[in-house]
Amino acid sequence: MAEPIAILLQPGEDSQQIIVSDGDGDDGDIESDDEWEGDTEDKCLEDKASGAGLGVEDESMGCAEDDGDEPNPAEREPADADSITRVPHALRGLKRQPIALWLAKRFAELLVQAKDRINGVPRLYYELGTIWFPRKDSLFLLMPNWPPTPDLLYGNVQFLLWDPLGMPMVVAIPCPVCKTHLKRHGYISRPRQVVDFNESFYMIGVRYLCPTCRNPKSGRCTVTYSSWDKRILKILGPEVSNIFPAWLSWRCAISKRLFGWLRTCMQSGMGLKQFSDGLRVQHLLAYHELEHQYLHYLRRVRPMAKALGRVFQKFPAYDDASPNGPHGYVPSASFFRNIYDQFMEDHRPAIHQQVSVLSFGAGSLDHSHKLTKHVASLNHKHPLQGVLSTGNQNGEIRTMHLVTTTGHSQTELALSELLKSLELFGHDPPNVMFTDNILGDKHFLEDVFSNSLRKDVIAMEAYSHLDELTIPQDLNVSVRNTPLSINEACRSILNDLPNDRGAKLVVGFDMEWNVNYSANGRIVHRGPTGLVQIAYQKHIYLLQIGDMVAEARLPSELMALLENPNILKAGKNPCGDLRSLQEAVRSPMLFQGAFDLAKLAKQKCVVYDIRKESLASLCARTLHYRLNKNLSERIS
Ligand SMILES: [Zn+2]
Repeated sequence: MAEPIAILLQPGEDSQQIIVSDGDGDDGDIESDDEWEGDTEDKCLEDKASGAGLGVEDESMGCAEDDGDEPNPAEREPADADSITRVPHALRGLKRQPIALWLAKRFAELLVQAKDRINGVPRLYYELGTIWFPRKDSLFLLMPNWPPTPDLLYGNVQFLLWDPLGMPMVVAIPCPVCKTHLKRHGYISRPRQVVDFNESFYMIGVRYLCPTCRNPKSGRCTVTYSSWDKRILKILGPEVSNIFPAWLSWRCAISKRLFGWLRTCMQSGMGLKQFSDGLRVQHLLAYHELEHQYLHYLRRVRPMAKALGRVFQKFPAYDDASPNGPHGYVPSASFFRNIYDQFMEDHRPAIHQQVSVLSFGAGSLDHSHKLTKHVASLNHKHPLQGVLSTGNQNGEIRTMHLVTTTGHSQTELALSELLKSLELFGHDPPNVMFTDNILGDKHFLEDVFSNSLRKDVIAMEAYSHLDELTIPQDLNVSVRNTPLSINEACRSILNDLPNDRGAKLVVGFDMEWNVNYSANGRIVHRGPTGLVQIAYQKHIYLLQIGDMVAEARLPSELMALLENPNILKAGKNPCGDLRSLQEAVRSPMLFQGAFDLAKLAKQKCVVYDIRKESLASLCARTLHYRLNKNLSERIS
């Protein structure tokens, strides 16, 4: 057999590891680190989204606006090197859809306000103390405008200006590569759309130029960064970048608070499809409320409209993408999956360390087979059988391993890794382990955690206050394993049956059978009966009938005994035993005369629920003796 392997999902733990909050190193690479690599379908989906708000400059766009404090405009190239290298290859050359007319108009208006500066600081920042442009409430837009149009309402979107170089505490922004102070290099020519809870807001960004870095292709100083570039946000530090309200991927963006809600929904088991659908409902609701307001407003002004002979515009559909349509858009589930995955991958080292320091006082084992179905297949077979997770007393996952079997060999590797990790982080090994397979896992777990699981544990027998029930000295126990000897034993019982019609005779009756185990020690199959035990008067007969059952035949006298309803077979649930034996030997006659002691005990009001009672508990309740029923002896 091949050597079993277990693949640790968690890389080598190092308690001294320095955790950085962000996966991307400051290696000066011009290539974008916020590329979003969805599959082709996703890209198409997101591309179909409104052309508005695609904030990264690309070669199809014109040059940036003048800002006054930039180098000679003649040196500027139509597109900057930075933006060309950051476009994912599959998307290069794709033309962007034009932005909606109302959005372009509002963007142009606000750009004028953004340029209203004193010493480079926007008036918005130092007068209002916010990055958000003021926004009117919809009613104040409807009133002074005649005739009212729908775009007054759906075009009343929130805008912000993101130019950290004009913010307090930001004296200069060093180039992420060469540390030279960056300079403003005009505005990003399109607003960037950010999807929020029930609407989108838009960002006006600035481009920063490094005066010394050179474009590797042209050799000219054309390397620029957008003001919301991840590297710039990182340089600014949390004291500044925390007010940046968006979480950006390559083509789309969602607000930070929406992303926070996405994480909460994921933690609570809400799927991404449901999340995306729910978000769309919220957007539609907000949009339809605007329509509702619009229609009621029209009803109010109808007399005036009639007098003027006016006809009003119809409120367009949410995703109407005509030139002045609302271009409503909510990202797909696969977009949310990508952005969530990206976040988790960025935080992978921190999550690993957090998991590594969890204690494991009481643990549990669990196999899951969902993930591995998606991992890899070889000739339509899955070499990896599942993920083995261990959880601690707080329900937190402590380790996850990919395993090729659910057997003990793989579990042992995983648990010994866990033991090493616990030792490394100064935790005690577990005192308690939970499993749904006590019989199979008990010895295995006690071996793995030999120093802790068995420590100070004193096994308590149930009913230990009672005296043990022992077999009386004068009883004769005999093992019978041939048809002849079995017939002889059975005949001696049958002969004692009185000839009167209806006279009964009681024997003690029990059966044992063979069991098959799975690789993890679980009983997977109850085999045929191996042993019938009959107690009668001073005799206990152990009838070894395994071979005979295998050939589907039983000695004739034993058959007669089993078929005789006047010989009562007393035991715990003998009915089921008799039925399975009858089926095993394919007897045409009914095996009958079962007499269930548990039912008798219930009739006599000794027990309440017979399903919870064992022979040992019946023995303790009725005879006040302890019946030792050792598991390991029974299964041997
Ligand atoms: Zn530079």
